[in-house]
This record gives sequence, C-alpha cells and structure tokens, in this order.
Amino acid sequence: MTILIKNIQLDQQTTDIFIDGKFIKKVGKGLPDKAGKVIDGTGKAVMPGFINGHTHSAMTLFRGFGDDMPLEQWLNEKIWPYEKNLTGEDVYHGVRLACLEMIKTGTTCFNDMYMTYPAVLRAVEDMGLRATLGATIFDFFRPEVAAQFKRETEQNFAVPRSERISFALAPHAIYTVSGGTLQWVRDFAAANRLLIHLHLAETQTEYRNAVKDFGLSPVRYLHKLKLLSPHLVLAHCLYVDDEEIQLLADHDVKVVHNPNSNLKIGSGHAFRYSEMKAAGITVGIGTDGCGSSNNLDLLEAAKIAALLQKGWRCDPTVMPVGEALQCITGNGARILQVNAGKIAPGALADLCLIDLQSYAFTPDFHFASNLLYSASHGSCVDTVLCDGRILMENRRVPDEEAILENAARTARKLML
Ligand SMILES: [Zn+2]
Repeated sequence: MTILIKNIQLDQQTTDIFIDGKFIKKVGKGLPDKAGKVIDGTGKAVMPGFINGHTHSAMTLFRGFGDDMPLEQWLNEKIWPYEKNLTGEDVYHGVRLACLEMIKTGTTCFNDMYMTYPAVLRAVEDMGLRATLGATIFDFFRPEVAAQFKRETEQNFAVPRSERISFALAPHAIYTVSGGTLQWVRDFAAANRLLIHLHLAETQTEYRNAVKDFGLSPVRYLHKLKLLSPHLVLAHCLYVDDEEIQLLADHDVKVVHNPNSNLKIGSGHAFRYSEMKAAGITVGIGTDGCGSSNNLDLLEAAKIAALLQKGWRCDPTVMPVGEALQCITGNGARILQVNAGKIAPGALADLCLIDLQSYAFTPDFHFASNLLYSASHGSCVDTVLCDGRILMENRRVPDEEAILENAARTARKLML
C-alpha cells in the first residue's frame, strides 16, 4: 500500500510525504500523485506519532473508580481486589478502549505493563498500534508464586506476535518482586534481548522501605543486583540523588516521567529532569494507567511535565517546548528501540496529522508552542497512521461505538 500526504505542514514548511508499505519513503515538495491513497494535508501539520513510555492500558476500566487516595491505599483497596477478578475478555475490552483513546490523541506506540498478556496482545494486534508489551511479574517474596510467574513469562514469550509488537519483562516493583526473581528477569531479558520495564523510586514510602529492607536506596539496590543496563526502562524515578543519577547515566538506563500520575497520587513533583538531562539520560514521558492518571493523553502529560519543571524550580527556561515534544517522540523511540519518532525517509510511517483550523493554532506564530501549551489535548489530532496503515481519518476510528459500549459494560460488571 502506498500513501501520499499532499501539502502538509512540517517544521513550518509545506511539503509532501510518500509512504510505501510501513516506511516513509520520501519527504519533499511536489511529489508525483501516484499512490494507492492520497490524503490532502491542507490546513494540517504532521507530527511523529507520540510514544507513551509507561502505561497499563487495560486500566481504562478503572477510570474514575478510585480518586484522591495515596498509592498504597489505592492499590490495596481499589485496584488489586478487583484486578483479581479480571478475565482475558475483560482485559481485551479495556485495552481496546485504551488503544482507541491513544489513537484519538495521536499516540502510535506505547510501553505497557499488565497481566493477562495474551488478551493485551490480541487487542493491540486488532487495533493496529505499535507496542512493547510487558507481562507483569509479581512474586510477593514467595518462591511458589515466583515459579508460577516464571512459567507464565516463558509461555507468554512463546506466543506469536507481529513485528509491530515487542515482548518485555515487567517486574512490577522492588517491593512486590524479590531480588532472586529480579535476577532471573535480568538473565531472561539478556538471553532474549528484551527490555525490562519496572516502577522505581516512585514514592517516599518505597524509598524508606528499600533502605529498611535491603539496606540500600532503590537505584543502589538494582545496581547491586546488576540490573542496570541500556535495556532497563524505569518508570518514575522521583527519589534519586546525584550519585544515583550518575549510576543510571553510566549504565544508559532509560527513565520515564509520569507527571499526572505522580501529582494525582501525591507521590511527589520534583522530578530531576535537568540533572538527568545533564548526565545524558534519555528521559521519556508516560501517562501511567488510567486508574491513576485518568487519561492516556500524552500531549497533556507533556504539558504538565513542562509546567511542573518550571514551577518547582521557579525557572521558566527548564524543559522548553522542543524538549517536551522530544520526550514524547524521539526519546520515546530511543527508549523502546524503535525506528520511529521522526518524519524522515527510512523511518517507520507512524505519524499524526494535526488540524490547524482551530482557536488553539490561531495565530500561528509557533506551531510547537501552540501544540504543547495551547492545544495539549487530543481533539486537535485529525488523522493517525501507524506502520503505514491509517488507524484514524478525519477523527473517525472504525468500531468506535462498539469499543466504548463493550468497555463500559465490562467495567460495570466488574465494579458493581
Ligand atoms: Zn505504573
């Protein structure tokens, strides 16, 4: 399939983009009209599809179910008791809703952590997004539970998947997964060239307990277990000192900031972006799951991230527009090791078209500024392509009504 996008705005210039199969083939003015499908880009701008560095997609089912509570209480009272009852079919409908929301808000790739992996995989395959899917591992420090999760992980890894989907290991956190299992994860990931996706240093409680239980802070504990590597993706990292930032940088560990979730759960706000950037760490941005951030709108998360940096540091120059957008495009691609996050020949054709015919883009002094600070919600996204396939055109996603209905019915059945 070939697609030609005509007269589209890219970096304040009007140009054409020719897509052949799953790749962007050419970018330039006046490309010939020979394509299976021609999209008129007049009045629109193109962006790389956004890359959500950390989420739990099926948790769309928990949207609005447990607000205004601390993390530990929220997990123990509102999440874990209900997650126990989730079937594969429930998860399938939750993930389809998540994919719908991500498509609607311009996200084409995401890094997911959840249980019932085969159902997550089936939903993402159906919806056409690119993803790194981590089957969550918990062992609660019990050897028999660890053995069961290891077996399941091996089974999940063996399930066939399309090229768009990567398998990752997703141990939940250092307070729910034993050191022995983390070392097993390390070795399994290294042997099979997989990413490891883990929550770390999210709350002060986690930090204090790590010092109490392991005699080390969270990052130092992972270092001792030899988990730090370029293939490790850490969600949160709110509580890290200078030496730990250097340790993360020395091992090229990737960090994903989740401002909305951190603020809403009251985990903290002082994410040390400037120090991490100065140390050379690749920082991405995630929404976290809808249980804690209530939506999967990555533009909104990037805006909050930028505002938060300026606010807590009393310095408006920190995380300027270009860097905030880089976190959800190029940095996200680097973190997930995909050839996306840019509009250039040879890159995967993962992109979104932004409708400029709105108050948010008027006047048009600075497109990126308008996109981040003024639009910063998905309704400006008009058309989305992933892997060279159109997932949304003119804001219409196939099967939208059925996806909403099935997810609403599933959530009602679970929680009531
Ligand atoms: Zn999370």
